[in-house]
Amino acid sequence: MAVADFLLRRFAGEVAGGTDRSGSGKSGVVVVDAGDAEILVRSGCGFVGDGLELRFRAGLPAQGRRVMGRAAARLLTEDLPRAARAVQWSRLDGERVRQWVELVEDHEHLQGQLAGRGLVAFVRDGAVLPRASGVSSAPLRGAVELRSPPSLRVTLPTLHHGEVSGMGVPVGVTLVTGGGFHGKTTLLEAIQRGIHPHVPGDGREWVVTSPDAVALRSEDGRSVVGVDLRAFISDLPGGRDTRGFTSPDASGSTSLAAAIMEGLEGGATALLLDEDRCATNLLIRDARMQQLVARETITPLIDRVQQLHADAGVSTVLVVGGSGDYLEVADTVLLMEDYRVHEVTARAREVAAGHPTGRAVLPPRGAIVPSPRRPRLRSFDPRRGQRAKVRARGLRELQLGEQTIDLGALEQLVDDGQARTIGALLEWLFEHGREGGTVRELAEQALAAADERGLYALGRLPDLVGVRRYELMAAIDRLRSLRLLEAR
Ligand code: ADP
Ligand code: MG
Repeated sequence: MAVADFLLRRFAGEVAGGTDRSGSGKSGVVVVDAGDAEILVRSGCGFVGDGLELRFRAGLPAQGRRVMGRAAARLLTEDLPRAARAVQWSRLDGERVRQWVELVEDHEHLQGQLAGRGLVAFVRDGAVLPRASGVSSAPLRGAVELRSPPSLRVTLPTLHHGEVSGMGVPVGVTLVTGGGFHGKTTLLEAIQRGIHPHVPGDGREWVVTSPDAVALRSEDGRSVVGVDLRAFISDLPGGRDTRGFTSPDASGSTSLAAAIMEGLEGGATALLLDEDRCATNLLIRDARMQQLVARETITPLIDRVQQLHADAGVSTVLVVGGSGDYLEVADTVLLMEDYRVHEVTARAREVAAGHPTGRAVLPPRGAIVPSPRRPRLRSFDPRRGQRAKVRARGLRELQLGEQTIDLGALEQLVDDGQARTIGALLEWLFEHGREGGTVRELAEQALAAADERGLYALGRLPDLVGVRRYELMAAIDRLRSLRLLEAR
């Protein structure tokens, strides 16, 4: 993966400078889908037998609908072959390739150590987390480098870089607190993306997160189909059941409860949440509201978060500056101040003891166990009229047949190509999915097929990018056409 990623970037760089773009429309335009900050599996480059295949789109040089023969011949027989020669081994900087490979291997090596060390994530001392701007993936210049508080510092062995030291984010319930603009969200977002390796020079090369950490948010208006929400929502007016909750237009709180249960259905071992993006009423309810409102249907996360870890083994990292009630239920409290991380768990306990909230801590009602759902395969129908129509628009929207799936809440999608891959996998499931499988089993089946034959085999598209089970499942969860087989 690392070598392919490197070669594809090299080829893209070569193509960008070396082709003639005269003419009109896509004339002469060569599009190579190389990556940005993350190093990911891509269909644009594959090792086939003893050889290497580079895959890309090229517009033949043309004026209107007339191909310009000479220019086309030059593109096909001179420019592209020249660009392709740039990835021949003899022309590469071997040290740089080695650097790429060693970073990817060590990222994976560290990921493999997290669970055994009781960690959800690791951020090496010296990491640069903020980006230059909201639309740039480049590191912010002059940023404050991350330094672990002494109490959280861990030292881990790597394969190629000796021992590395930095902040270990422990399993359990971790709060990231601090004043506005002190870097809380920046830390959480870096952790969200630490599921993937990053390119040398990115600043986040040594942010390493459990591959089963899932970032979730509220999503007013989303579709929810047949999710068991009883752990968070029950006793609805009119006796409506929340065992298999369905809504075409879920609220902020309901959508977050659904996202948590769907995450558990997928096998998530850590939830990453930012209060900025989460409905308050699913996060907390204070003493006064407990007094005033007798018939509450929501059990907020604050009453479940410890149970999530104790019973289901699921950790939570929660950015929260607004509600001190959470101090009581946290195992670890981080305080961000001027972009510096302090560990203040003991102090937080003192504050909590000194300022009792008077909240009644509700005893856990029932286990938090997701009920697996079994989709009907026709839910994945990609047809619009006679023909399949599957098209991603950027990262946020995926058209599948008649419907548009909103991917905007999938925080950990990082590359447009991943949205295209989700589309291709849904289409594959319509054809080849095993009827009767659960959402998770279907996602695993599709990903195993893509893994075995390569992403390119999915639809001979040059711009597909690897996705996790969690993102594929999240897209299935949001299908407005999702229908389930009757519970057995
Ligand atoms: P919060 O979530 O605490 O309100 P943010 O993470 O949104 O804070 O950060 C606020 C601003 O500070 C952002 O513009 C971000 O780029 C910048 N910032 C974050 N971390 C650092 C850092 N380590 N060094 C310099 N600037 C940073
Ligand atoms: Mg924030």
